[in-house]
Amino acid sequence: MLSRGHTVVGLDNFLTGNPENLRHLSGESRFHFIEQDITRPFSIDGPVDCVVNMASPASPKDYLEHPIETLAVGSVGTQNMLELAKEKQARFLITSTSECYGDPLEHPQVETYWGHVNPVGPRSCYDESKRFAEAITMAYHRKYGVATNIVRIFNTYGPRMKLDDGRVVPAFLDRALRGLPITVFGDGSQTRSFCYVSDLVEGISRLMLSDERYPVNIGNPREMTILEFAEHIQRLTGTRSEINFAPLPEDDPRQRRPDISKAQRLLGWQPVVPLDEGLQLTIEYFQGLPTRAEAIA
Ligand code: UDP
Repeated sequence: MLSRGHTVVGLDNFLTGNPENLRHLSGESRFHFIEQDITRPFSIDGPVDCVVNMASPASPKDYLEHPIETLAVGSVGTQNMLELAKEKQARFLITSTSECYGDPLEHPQVETYWGHVNPVGPRSCYDESKRFAEAITMAYHRKYGVATNIVRIFNTYGPRMKLDDGRVVPAFLDRALRGLPITVFGDGSQTRSFCYVSDLVEGISRLMLSDERYPVNIGNPREMTILEFAEHIQRLTGTRSEINFAPLPEDDPRQRRPDISKAQRLLGWQPVVPLDEGLQLTIEYFQGLPTRAEAIA
């Protein structure tokens, strides 16, 4: 947004985020930052054209550690951001998730599929929070005419992820780069489809300018099993790390692949970064980070 000439106000309470990720913006006069929990009252001075609500823990490890905060940010936080959009007569975009489909019985997942979510399982704090966020977004559109968009983000990876956030890309890369065993949960036959961050950003940017009110999947349809992914990381990094197996977490979705025909048709969007290129950029980012020992010193 900044490189396209916009002025940006960023809000974050750093529950799972990292101020280091904003350091490169410190000299940027069009970027303003407010340390803020969006579940608490706040106000923004001056006009606003567009409100983008991306706030939430997103890694299973993070949302299982912060279930109440996760439910609060998707519900109260989303409503506060919708109120801001309504007050400013601004557009509004919510980042929702493929987790709205739960452990899907339809494959690949099309936006019209209503999902298969366990409402009382450990992941429900995230799934139901995002489903509520979608519902209240549609309600503000229907009741108040707010111009809203909903993006359902599938597994995304890239630079500025936390090395220890528990998600499979940083987890496998961290272990492989240190020559430690890679841990596959279950037998590794569950599938995921990984989208590089710049492809996601381009998809969201296009959706923000569209009049589509119903959800749009943004993700990469290249699907693989987690065991295949682990073996792929072994080859790509040339590591001597072995593959270990650990129990599958409760309600871990068995399969996931976005049907992106809606994004292709409406936005002219599809991912362009091949997996190995994206992984290489991510590896370079992780290798450039201070080592644990340097960080402690
Ligand atoms: N996974 C794994 N080992 C890890 C981390 C994750 O086998 O160290 C598996 C996890 O069980 C899931 C998949 O990788 O089947 C993707 O997990 P992630 O936490 O990245 O995201 P999810 O798609 O589950 O939200």
